[in-house]
Formats: sequence, structure tokens, C-alpha cells
Amino acid sequence: MRILVDLNRCQSYGQCCFASPHVFRFHNGEALEYDPAPDDALREQVVRAARACPVQAIYIGLDDAYEALPEGEHHDQQHQ
Ligand code: SF4
Repeated sequence: MRILVDLNRCQSYGQCCFASPHVFRFHNGEALEYDPAPDDALREQVVRAARACPVQAIYIGLDDAYEALPEGEHHDQQHQ
């Protein structure tokens, strides 16, 4: 799967790191680092990380992650 973090939008809250520590981490305690192509096995926690982000800075590739969301969740995502 593919993800993108808008680092201009990111306020370094660190919620994503708690939700998905394999994919998101802070470098030197400051800059957010992330894996732009995490393994599909991590999809669930990456989706959780995206939802946990207070500023919605995490974008998940349309190719697969959106398909995985149950009907109705798409709607929620757009209006958060
Ligand atoms: S949760 Fe959002 S704002 Fe916080 S560090 Fe992650 S991407 Fe940045």
C-alpha cells in the first residue's frame, strides 16, 4: 500500500506513531519519518493512524486502502 504524509500540515502530535510505530516515527525526536510503502499486513494500523491524526495529514493510496474500508466510512473520511 502507498501512503503520503503532508508534512506541512503535520503538527508533530505523534498520534500516528502510537497507532503504527512500524510505519511512523520521529527522527531525533523532531522530524516525522514514515515508510511511504508499508506492507499490506500493516494496513489496519495505518488506517488507524490516519484516523488518529488530528490534522488529517496522512493520505492513504486509493489503490487498496479505501477498498478495505466498510461502506459508510468513506463518507466519514471526507467530512472529518
Ligand atoms: S498524527 Fe498527524 S500531525 Fe501527528 S505526527 Fe502523525 S502525521 Fe503528524
